[in-house]
Formats: sequence, C-alpha cells, structure tokens
Amino acid sequence: MENIQQKLNQLRAELREHNHNYYVLDNPTISDYDFDLKLKALQELEEAHPEFFDSNSPTQRVGGEVTKNFETIKHEYRMYSLDNSYSKEDLLDWEKRIKKLVDGDVEYTCELKYDGASMSLTYEDGKLVRAVTRGDGFQGDNVTANVKTIKSVPLQLKGNYPQKFEIRGEIVLPFDGFNKMNEERVANGEEPYRNPRNTASGSLKLQDSGEVAKRPLECLLYNLTGSNLGVSTQFESLEKARSWGFKVPEVAVLAKSVDEVLEFVNHWDIERHKLPYETDGVVIKVNNLQQQEELGYTAKAPRWAMAYKFKAEQVSTVLNKITYQVGRTGAITPVANLEPVELAGTTVKRASIHNADQIEKLDIREGDTVFVEKGGEIIPKIVAVDLIKRPLDSQQTQYIKQCPECGTELVRTEGDAKHYCPNYNGCSPQIIGRIQHYISRKAMDIEGLGGETVALLVNEGLISNYSDLYELTKEQVIPLERMAEKSAENLVNGIEQSKQIPFERVLYAIGIRYVGETVAKKLAKHYKSIDALIDASQEELEQVDEIGVKIAESVKGFFSADENILIINRLKSFGIQLKVSEEELEGLTELLKGKSIVVSGVFEHVSRTELKKLIEQNGGKVSSSISSKTSFVVAGDKMGPSKRTKAESLGIELLNEINFLQIIGIK
Ligand code: AMP
Ligand code: ZN
Repeated sequence: MENIQQKLNQLRAELREHNHNYYVLDNPTISDYDFDLKLKALQELEEAHPEFFDSNSPTQRVGGEVTKNFETIKHEYRMYSLDNSYSKEDLLDWEKRIKKLVDGDVEYTCELKYDGASMSLTYEDGKLVRAVTRGDGFQGDNVTANVKTIKSVPLQLKGNYPQKFEIRGEIVLPFDGFNKMNEERVANGEEPYRNPRNTASGSLKLQDSGEVAKRPLECLLYNLTGSNLGVSTQFESLEKARSWGFKVPEVAVLAKSVDEVLEFVNHWDIERHKLPYETDGVVIKVNNLQQQEELGYTAKAPRWAMAYKFKAEQVSTVLNKITYQVGRTGAITPVANLEPVELAGTTVKRASIHNADQIEKLDIREGDTVFVEKGGEIIPKIVAVDLIKRPLDSQQTQYIKQCPECGTELVRTEGDAKHYCPNYNGCSPQIIGRIQHYISRKAMDIEGLGGETVALLVNEGLISNYSDLYELTKEQVIPLERMAEKSAENLVNGIEQSKQIPFERVLYAIGIRYVGETVAKKLAKHYKSIDALIDASQEELEQVDEIGVKIAESVKGFFSADENILIINRLKSFGIQLKVSEEELEGLTELLKGKSIVVSGVFEHVSRTELKKLIEQNGGKVSSSISSKTSFVVAGDKMGPSKRTKAESLGIELLNEINFLQIIGIK
C-alpha cells in the first residue's frame, strides 16, 4: 500500500512540475507525447486505487464536474476597484496626496493592467481550496471547479509558502486561443465571440467544467492578501508568489518617481501590442506594504494604488463603401471598406459592422468619416461617425434586401440579428462554403484538395455538393488551372481516403448549423448511425445529454430537407462512414441496452464524465432530464433537490455510485 501511495505522489509531483514548466514558465522539458503517457499512467493508477483520490491531482484538470448554481461566497478581504488616472498631472496629484499621509520616500511598483476577469484564489497548506469571482467586491461566485481546469493555476504549491493566504489575479484569454475559438465558431455557423475579456469571464460561469478545460484560459497573478505573509513590499510579494509556482508576469518594475512611472507607461503603451493577451493600462502601487496600510482605502479603492488607462486606439478615416458578405450558412455580414489607415501598427482597410441594427444605431453611411477602434477583435470596428464631416449629399444606408451573390430575397427571423440568404442550393458562396467546410482539416481532412480548388470545381460545374466529390475522375480534374497529372491523382486519392474518416467527423463535416465538433461527437455516440439520428424526433433529441432546443431544431431542419437526404444517401452509396464502426462497438456490452439513464450529483470514485462514458460503453443512453422514460438515476452527493423530488414522484429508482458500478460488473 505504502508503495502505491509513494508512486502516486511521485507521479503527481512530476506531472505538476511539467505543468509548471509548460504553462507558467513557457518552457516545457518533455514532449507532449511523454507527458500524455505519464498522465495516462497516473490516471490508471488512480482508477485502480480510488482510496488515494486527491481532488488536486493533475488528473483533475480535465474537468467534468457540473455546477448548476454557483454558490455565493463572501470575500474575507474585500476586492476593491482602482481609481483611474489619464495624465501626468493626475499622477502628480496622487503623489501629493500620498506624501501628506505617509512619511519617508515612496517607491512604486509598476505593473500591467490585464484585461480579463478578476479572481481570488485561496490556498491552505499549499493546496488550492477555493476560487471566487470578484462579484460586487463584497461577495462573488464559487467557481473552483472551473478554475481548477486552468493549467497555469497551481493546485499544489512548492517552496516556502504561508499556511493560508489569498492571491488575486486576472483570468485572461490570450488572442491566439481566442481567435482559434472564433474560427471554430464561424466554421460551425455560429456568431464569433466579440472580445477575449467577455469570453474569459463567460467561460468561468460555464456549468460544465469539462468545457472550461478546453478553453485556453490563463491566470495572471498580482496581489497577495492575508495576514502574517512574511513579505514587506509589493515587489517582493510578486517574486515570492512566482517562486511558489504562480504565473506572475515578469514585466513589473520599481519606480522612484512619477517620471519613472511615466517611462514605464510610455514604453508599454507601444510594446503591449506584442503581448499575447489584452492589457488596458498600467497599475501603479505604493511598494512598501506598511505605507500601504497607513494609506488605507476610500469607499471604493485603495489609496495606495492607481490605474493609468492607455488611450483606446482610435483613428478616423473615410468609409468608401459598404459591401456584404455571404457565409457558408447564408448569414449576411456587412463590411466597411475604408480608406486605408494605420492603426495599432497595422494598415486597416476593412472594419466589421455586425449587422443591420448596428448600421441603424450609428447611422453609418457611405462617404462618412468614421472612428475606428481596435479592441480584442480580429478586425477593427466602427465606433462612431464624425457627423461634422458628413457630406451634404449624404444618403441614409439602405440595407440590402437581396442576396448580393444570387439575388434571392433575404430573410430575417425574429430574434436573429442577422439576415440570411435562404437560397440553400443555388447561392454560390453557400455551396462552395459547405464543400470547403466538408474537406477542412477537422472534418474530412481531404489531402490534395484546397479551398480554391473547390471554388474552381464548383464554378466549372464539376461538383455542386460534397457528395459529388466521390465521382470526380482524374481526367476531369487535370484540365483545371494549376493542375497536373500528379496533383490530380493526389486529389482523387485524398477523396478516396476520406471514406475511412469515422462517423463522428462525417457528422461534423456535413455542416449542420450548431453541430460543431463536440456536438457531433455527442450525437454520434448517442445514436451510433445517421439513420437513427434521422429518425429521432425533436423531443428525443432534446433529451440527449447536452443537446438543447436550438441544436435539436437545427438537426431536425437539416434532415427534413429532401435534398440533404438525397446527398446523405449518395454518401452512403460511396461507402462513407455513416455509422459507428465495428471496432468502436467492440468491447461494449449490452448490459444497459434500451435504458435511458440520468446522472446527477457529485461522485467519489469516478467522475461524471467517466460515468457517462461507462453508460454509453455498456449500451445505455445518457439523458439530461428525468421523465417517465428514465430507467434509473445514478445519484451522487449533492444531487439537485428538484431532480430528487421528480424522480421520487415518478417512482424512478435512484442508484448510488457503487450500486451502478456493480451492475456493470466493475465493483
Ligand atoms: P477597474 O475594473 O477598471 O476598476 O479596475 C480594477 C481591476 O483591475 C481590478 O479589479 C483587477 O481585476 C484589475 N487588474 C488588472 N491588472 C491588475 C494589477 N496588475 N493589479 C491590480 N489590479 C489589476
Ligand atoms: Zn444568396
């Protein structure tokens, strides 16, 4: 026994160290592959020895816990705001006020002001015990399960840390990860997120921590709070926190005067554009903690700290023309074509205008001089119109009524901000876009075929939907522009190979709106074949774990169109994987066949995600809500009271974790 515990400790410590190297120091010392192997070894050992469960083990980072209602927690130490300053004069005034209240020289730490969601983490005996959002400053939400999935948040500290303390920081979503998330959303026909900051704070309130784990969030720390922490300056506390394993950006400097503070501000006002995440200013703090204490707080902010806000970068330029783009789902996006102008280090020619409402709200017109701003978005946006410069012959913008590509009357359904071109089968960007999505890397990953070639094939009349790809011959392709014998052969081979792509990816590839990668996986696992999915009713779909009304409607809508069924049948005839393969089905038992099972609460031996997997592997179906069709509920700790009442009133059996594991022969 002791041996196992030792082995577990050692593996956990090793993985913690690698996590720290990778996510905090950005300096990995082993390959991702070796890391995964070790993690898997730990997982297996932990599964075999649930008696040594540790909620702070590196294996717990994948999430899986679901929180329906976040518990409200009162902050032991209030989370204050910061006062803002915008000029040297503001800073000099501040310094004058300080000098009246404290004796001796005053030194400042200068830090960047990270733009994300503020967070307070509590550690006891080196372990993360709680993560709470700022809320109103007095109390916030307990989001511990979600924050645990953020890899740069240490679950176990190292070095010589105080027995108990809080540390404050900002959860941010770096641009890279944000842009990737948006590319995926756009590919799934969803609206892109507006900016990293709101996306970061929204992520913390997701109910499924497994989803949070997939988001590339980071936690940057800047403030130690508590008593008897053994530090005497802010700068020292940053260094200490770093040594305990926290991600504390290295940019902080000490300044002896307001002039030195301004040097830091001016430097970072430019350099910040090279940072991987958003910052919106500098935070200046009195360095000496004793002086901080003497200065104390106003009703809203510490007297010992001051934010200096960077000016939002804005330029004005002329809007030459508004054009309209048609996406793969038919969604129309208006685009402002600008007189090229320099903004935050890049030349800007286009800006996004989200939809018709935006044009109306700002009264944006062609010929206007507009103010363009760059926030966290990929393309800049128009924030206002310079009315003084509006030409005398200016005309109010008439939003287009017909599709700019195919001339079809546009539709706008209630509650939808966007206009759509309904010409599903005849509108070229939609036709091409759907095929481009089908062949894309995460979908059918067809080698030798690119987006431009798809456009060419469609325009030449060789294909009109993705099922046509499978009838293409080398001879048809060779005459195309920039094609040769070899590339034509690769293309045809690539298409042929896509017949091996597993069902779940095919389901993603066929491009049902709102069916992204994750949803496609869910549906494939649940229904196991496209035929079963086509037959599912709206209500049945909504019953599937994690599938909501919107997705269910979209799936139903897709399969109710005859042309889609026709295409699916063609795919079938060409041998595309439209059901889960034999191998995937192998090793599965039918112990739970025909059973519809609800999982609720928190479990001791297996995670919720694992429980759901076990149900599916044994032929059962996981359902999200209790109804008369529910076979039984696997109930853990803290099962929701309303679920319990419902189960009882319908006379549905509740099994505990052990009972359930016995049924499938594990315990
Ligand atoms: P505001 O929201 O404009 O009142 O600014 C206060 C917020 O700035 C705090 O609640 C923190 O979340 C955030 N902040 C970002 N970076 C820092 C930093 N280096 N030091 C202190 N607060 C920071
Ligand atoms: Zn159209």
